[in-house]
Amino acid sequence: MPAKTMDELVSLCKRRGFIFQGSEIYGGMQGAYDYGPLGVELKNNLKDAWWRAMVYDRDDVEGLDAAIIQNKYVYKYSGHEDTFTDPMVDCHDCKARMRADHMKDIKVCDQCGSTKVTEPRDFNLMFKTNVGPMVNEESYTYLRPETAQGIFTNFKNVVDSTSRALPFGIAQIGKSFRNEITPRNFIFRVREFEQMELEFFCKPGEDEQWHDTWVKLRKQWWLDQGLAEENIQFEYVTGDDLAHYSKATVDILYKFPHGYEELEGVANRTDYDLGSHTKAQEEFGLSAKVKKNEHSTTKLAVRDLEENKNVVPFCIEPSAGLDRGVLAVLTEAYTEEELENGSSRIVLKLKPHLAPIKVAVLPLKKNKTEIVEAAKAIKNRLQKLGLGRILFENTGNVGKGYRRHDEVGTPLCITVDFDTIEQEGAPVTVRHRDTMAQEVVNTADLPSFILNYFVNQEA
Ligand code: ATP
Repeated sequence: MPAKTMDELVSLCKRRGFIFQGSEIYGGMQGAYDYGPLGVELKNNLKDAWWRAMVYDRDDVEGLDAAIIQNKYVYKYSGHEDTFTDPMVDCHDCKARMRADHMKDIKVCDQCGSTKVTEPRDFNLMFKTNVGPMVNEESYTYLRPETAQGIFTNFKNVVDSTSRALPFGIAQIGKSFRNEITPRNFIFRVREFEQMELEFFCKPGEDEQWHDTWVKLRKQWWLDQGLAEENIQFEYVTGDDLAHYSKATVDILYKFPHGYEELEGVANRTDYDLGSHTKAQEEFGLSAKVKKNEHSTTKLAVRDLEENKNVVPFCIEPSAGLDRGVLAVLTEAYTEEELENGSSRIVLKLKPHLAPIKVAVLPLKKNKTEIVEAAKAIKNRLQKLGLGRILFENTGNVGKGYRRHDEVGTPLCITVDFDTIEQEGAPVTVRHRDTMAQEVVNTADLPSFILNYFVNQEA
């Protein structure tokens, strides 16, 4: 059964070193979390899986890693300066600050029940920062609230350097920042987070078909990460809830411990972004009396060879939250099991490609040199397979080791014992996380056994 409460997940994450409250020794900081030794592995594995699916498995997508800090005019012409806002309500009595669209009743304070609350006011979510040593009216810019703008501003660079024709995509993973009014629900809503975004450019008129295709592909990808189909829903965003750039958005919702909420949004951004950066150029081209670096001077269009004209492509954007992804796979994987002997165990049934530790190698005896050395040699050999982290762990308590590795989702444990150093073939015991089944494998066969295991799990 998946995790029942967020508290169970928070507790496991802290206990085992997945995720810690940010700035904890100073009393913490709302909306900021740090990924610990196992969290960073899980997060990197999820990123790698996304990159493989979006870039390597396709031949129509290129990668990019743009700067977080960009020219402030990017956000003026993208529309974020004027419209990237959430409606905020303040309570005069308890001073609580709330997001109006999250309140049960916008006339009643969620915290204290007072009716002395302000009308909703627009609050811009972008973090403003100062660039360079001089602080003046001109020296500001923003931390990016989405990675997407770096893709739009590099559109021409990518087209020119790769000779891409429509349809094609540009993929990027990176940090985004939003000064959320009320960060909450652990790493679900934070102020600093990572996004995995694809901007997929197509001919106008083919956009709706590509939108449908990407919604389906993205759902399948989440299933491949282990999420159960019955815990995923689609929400068709309408009216005022649509972002300023979107013609249509389908949100992929997951059943988090606090309820169904957005894991990924798949938006049809039309030609809005490329169009507005191009318009900035037309309005404020080099000939105009403006400073050269203040406005985009690059026409963001591609040549349609069939129709012999320039077109500004339409863009479909699957935008997934990496932190929300980590929370979703943890929620799904967390399982409490009653065992036959009456005890119970917590096991994190992560897909093997996401597991922070792929294999743990455990010597049966802590102080028996030959066993310890044999275990170290196995670890070193398996590490070279390039599967991810293989852990040598010399605590001398194999039973406890199994429990701990169940809790952190290690798919396989290898125990090295007296048989390994005494018997021909140097047999070891391989123990499976989910079934707890054990099998004996000769040391020389281990690399192919382990490789086969991980390849078959991926299939
Ligand atoms: P929400 O409605 O939950 O505020 P959004 O619709 O503003 O999210 P998008 O702008 O579509 O979110 O961003 C794309 C993805 O980025 C989201 O689906 C989510 O996974 C992630 N994301 C957005 N805001 C946050 C946040 N504050 N913390 C963590 N992840 C976020």
